[in-house]
This record gives sequence, structure tokens and C-alpha cells, in this order.
Amino acid sequence: MPVRTVCACGAVYNLKDEYAGRRLGCPRCGGAVEAPALPPAPPVREQAGDPAFARDKFLLHERHLGISEKYSVTDPGGAPLMFIERPNHIFLNVLAIFGGLAAGLLNFLLFSVLHALARKAGLDPLFCALLAVWARLGSALVVVMAAQALSRKRHITVYRDDKREEVLLRVTQDTRLQLLTASYTVAGPGGEALAVICKKRLNNIFRKRWYGFGPGGQFLFLAKEDSAILSVLRRMMLGFFGLLHTDFIIYSPGGAVLGEFNRRQTVRDRYVLDLTPDSLRSLDRRAALALGVLLDTGEGR
Ligand SMILES: [Zn+2]
Repeated sequence: MPVRTVCACGAVYNLKDEYAGRRLGCPRCGGAVEAPALPPAPPVREQAGDPAFARDKFLLHERHLGISEKYSVTDPGGAPLMFIERPNHIFLNVLAIFGGLAAGLLNFLLFSVLHALARKAGLDPLFCALLAVWARLGSALVVVMAAQALSRKRHITVYRDDKREEVLLRVTQDTRLQLLTASYTVAGPGGEALAVICKKRLNNIFRKRWYGFGPGGQFLFLAKEDSAILSVLRRMMLGFFGLLHTDFIIYSPGGAVLGEFNRRQTVRDRYVLDLTPDSLRSLDRRAALALGVLLDTGEGR
């Protein structure tokens, strides 16, 4: 922020911060002019929770051990900070998909029979057509909804380390059915709610967005794909070889950049959550870390 300094002769200078509070010679009139002192800096918000969260940069290293998604979190120097696990429940969710298919098939058979009966009875052709449409399109919807309704929720747990004894943070999937909105609650180890992070699927067709809210519903942040063109390309090429990876920028409610989440250069399965732009730590790092994991696992890469 430049220091606005006005000389007695009327000259106005916008000086660099380092000149604040200093006496200077006015280039116009040659007189002495004193640059005003800087306003006191707003206080840096204290990061609540475990001290492991009190930092600006987190490196997430994805570990390929077993079915669940696991990350070790380190600082930029590689010192371990936390361990994160998000179970996949593959067996149960395969069962859920079979359940969804069965429900869809049932819907298809039922409405196909109704359609045949309605035609035989000579009912209104529009009504018959609707039955036929629901037998097909409706069945697809029933498959998705039933499979989601039967699926296991995928909660995220942040532990102190890979011994998984001490919980630092929990992120719970709020609903099984995530047809239009996917919503997750971030809570401390004692269950105290810290934030709700959600995405609206219809908003996400072209450019993915995730929203963060406080426990009282106040808007905290928005995470948005950094490039609309790349994100469309990515959809079209289905993340071809993982080369068109997505980076997200995190914005404050006022539109200021708080940080970013990205895949580090060319290294696969290594992510950086960088919140250095948010030097006042207005964004709770615990919510930011939960967001990072959701951006990676919640996008169905
Ligand atoms: Zn002057």
C-alpha cells in the first residue's frame, strides 16, 4: 500500500512503505516533508486447533497402499505433519451399484408393462408416451439414485500420524444421495463443527466450484478451477493421462485470493496447498486442508 504524502507546496507523492514516518526533501520545492506512518497492521488470526495446522503450506503425498485413499501431509521441508485416510468401501459400493441396477431394471419392467397395457386399453397417446419415456430415462435416474442411496458414505479422517491413534480432524459426508449437491461437514476431534464444504453439481459442468461456509452459515470461501478452457478440455479428454490436471484458486467472500491447491509441477500424486497469500490467516487451515482432500478425492478423477 503506497504511503500518500502531501507537501506544504501542494505536491502529492505516493511513496513506498519503507519511507513511512521518514523526513524527506520535496523534489518540487526543496522543503522538508514528513511521510505519515503506516497504519498498524491488522492482527494475524490465531489458528485454532492442533499446532500442526498453524502454517501456510501443506504438501499432500498420495500413498498407494490398499483400496482407501491415503495421504501423508508434510511441510515444504518434508517433515511429517499428519496422516489422512478416506476409505473407499469398494466391495460395499459395488453391491450398491448392483442394487441400483436391480432397482432400475424393476422400474424398466414395471413401466414397460404399464405402457403395453395402456396402449392395449387405447389410453391417451401422450400418457402412453410418458410411460415409455419413464421406462427408459426414469430407469437410468433410478439406477443412480438407488445406487447412491445404498452406498456407504465416505468420511475423511485426519490423524496425527499413520499409527491412526489420535484424530485431529473429521470430515463427514453429509448425505448419501449427492445428486445435486455434495456436502461435507468439517469438525474438530471433539465433534465441534468448524465448516461445511459443498459443491453444486449443476454449477460444475464447465468450471468446478466448491463453497465453504461457517457453522452458522456465513460464507467463508470459494474454490474455483483456475482455467475455464483447461477445465472444458479436461472434461472432453477425460483427464487424458492426467496431464490436464486441475488447479484450484481459493477466494475470500470479497474476491481476494487466499491461496491455491495444485498438483506440483509434473510430479503425480503430490499436491500443494499454498495459503501464503492469506498472510492474516483469515481462512481456517483446518477447513482449507479438508477442502484440499475433497478437491482431490471428491472430483472422481
Ligand atoms: Zn514541496
